[in-house]
Amino acid sequence: MLYFGLVKAVEAARSLKNQKEPGSAASLNHSGRLLRRCRALCSDRPEVEVEAELVLDDSDGAAWLHKHCPEHGLERAMVARSGWYLEGLDDYYYRLNPGPSRPDPRRLSGHVLYLTTMRCNFRCPVCFLELDREKELTESIEAPSLDQIRELVGRFRGWRAEIFPLGAEPTMRPELPEIIALIRRSGNYPVLVSNGERLRDARFFRCLVDAGLSKLVLSIDALADPQVEQQFRGRQVERSKFQVLELARKFGLPVQLERCMARGINDDDLNAHLRLARGFPMVHNLVYRSYLDVGSCSSSFSREHQLLPDEIVEALGRANPELAMRDFYVFQKLLYALCRITGMPRCHRTQALFVPRDAAPPLAEVLDFETLEPILERFAEDTPAKPRRAAASLLAWLGRRLVHRPDLLYVFGLQGLRRFSYPERHYPNSYLSVCVSSLYDAATYHATGVWRCHSVWHHGGKPEDFEPFCKVILDSSRFKRRLLHYQQSAGRS
Ligand code: SF4
Ligand SMILES: [Zn+2]
Repeated sequence: MLYFGLVKAVEAARSLKNQKEPGSAASLNHSGRLLRRCRALCSDRPEVEVEAELVLDDSDGAAWLHKHCPEHGLERAMVARSGWYLEGLDDYYYRLNPGPSRPDPRRLSGHVLYLTTMRCNFRCPVCFLELDREKELTESIEAPSLDQIRELVGRFRGWRAEIFPLGAEPTMRPELPEIIALIRRSGNYPVLVSNGERLRDARFFRCLVDAGLSKLVLSIDALADPQVEQQFRGRQVERSKFQVLELARKFGLPVQLERCMARGINDDDLNAHLRLARGFPMVHNLVYRSYLDVGSCSSSFSREHQLLPDEIVEALGRANPELAMRDFYVFQKLLYALCRITGMPRCHRTQALFVPRDAAPPLAEVLDFETLEPILERFAEDTPAKPRRAAASLLAWLGRRLVHRPDLLYVFGLQGLRRFSYPERHYPNSYLSVCVSSLYDAATYHATGVWRCHSVWHHGGKPEDFEPFCKVILDSSRFKRRLLHYQQSAGRS
């Protein structure tokens, strides 16, 4: 039954998601409205940038990238099934932030350092690193030494940013406590993305917390569904992840809980994770993330399993009135407005909303989203001519709304609080952050959009030498070859 449903869903998606006219440079003859011109990537050769247009198709209401590859002809890739959602947000964002931009590295919220180890105790079918593929290449990538990491971390001294010492699985690196301590001592916040297996050892976990770990990112893709666990992780992991969550609660460590989703496999029962997150006060963020197809991820998944961000937002709204798509829409506009005021970049593919954990009123009520939307419109109209006055007026309105709900202030001030060295473990948590996140793949990559990313990859050069994370991992083999190159080059440390 599951298999039949999956085949149907995947076939439907395949017919819609990517269409090609080999060799044709002419239009695909679809009625549509041009939203913007941009640059995209050839899906077959992601290293090649091509001219493209973002188009809203009147016949299906979806937004598509029309890509013109000199070698492969014209290709259409769907970037949003609900075109109105993308059109409205895209338009709002670019009205506030016209022109190309390269973000100021100090204003980014997340910095990924190059790999601390290529070793992992799992072999997840959804892993973008594909550790067993091109074994020789994978094994030839050496982990940087502690001295090299010390030097690299030193370049971010005092930034008060979240720094991710990424792995494969970082807990496989024996010096992880030292790496965490180094990041913390540099005046930044170490965030660990882990499969959790080694964290079941309470002494080891405690040691990382004592070294200064500020947050753990943990994925639980399925609840009470061993078949899905097997498909995603190649083993049963739910029980051990719950052990880790309990330990995080005991140690008072904030957790970002993630659910990786794939079309037709686990894109139902979305409320289960919300219930789980609400029950664990240390879960500060719940992220619904799409499986990412980075080329040849594994034999069991393909591009058709990938969900677009608006598809996840819509599914959440259908499952739960607290996560209505319209509320996501208004709240993203507010976030874009605040990012314009603070100068912080924000990825278009990440959508966020805050839901009350228990008795607190919903955000749409506190901020009265119906009144807020015209205020945000006025902010966008006034900003080009009088940015300060527009900002003051929006902030004053927000202040009046939030004065009776100081517990909500942190929703808007996470970055600010961090910059005052206020640890996340002490943030009030009467509201839970729910995010929808999906990195760009080669089909949906959009050169302008990707540079609005708030989280980037540093390969060991100067702190200014970063690239959007999505851009770096578009193709796992290329990513590994680049890693090898960075590590062999003189600029490695
Ligand atoms: S635990 Fe992480 S690094 Fe290891 S195989 Fe799974 S996804 Fe890849
Ligand atoms: Zn091409």
